[in-house]
This record gives sequence, structure tokens and C-alpha cells, in this order.
Amino acid sequence: MECDRGETCAFFNNKLALKPAVLELVKQTFCSHDKLQCSRYQLIMAGLPVPDDLYPSDSNRGREIIREWRNRAR
Ligand code: SF4
Repeated sequence: MECDRGETCAFFNNKLALKPAVLELVKQTFCSHDKLQCSRYQLIMAGLPVPDDLYPSDSNRGREIIREWRNRAR
């Protein structure tokens, strides 16, 4: 499922300064086909701010951010 957050997404707009071939590969994997597996998208859906430097594939860091916010909300 294609992602509709490209306009505002730092990764999608190459703010992480990746090599073009790497950027395109990750865009194909996440942005064009599987946004639900993207760590950035998961934070957006949780209503949380997304660090500019978070990679779509960095699920450990994404889960940790969500866990920290949940702990703070208690
Ligand atoms: S899938 Fe992830 S990286 Fe791609 S545009 Fe959506 S939020 Fe950004």
C-alpha cells in the first residue's frame, strides 16, 4: 500500500542524505509497497513526532520511541 505522507516526510525528501540508489530501494520497499512496515509511518499513526533521522527500516528505534511515550503517559 502506497504511502500518502511523502510531501512532509524527511526521509522521502532525502533529508537523510542517502545515496540515490539506496534511497530509491528503500522508497520502493516501504513508500511504494509497504508503508505499514515503515517505522516513520508507525509513529505518524501513533500520533507521535517523527525524528528527521529515523530510517523506515529502524523498527527497534521506532518501537523504543513508542514505548517511551507510553511510559510517559502513565
Ligand atoms: S512510507 Fe515511511 S518513509 Fe515513506 S513516505 Fe511514508 S512515512 Fe515516509
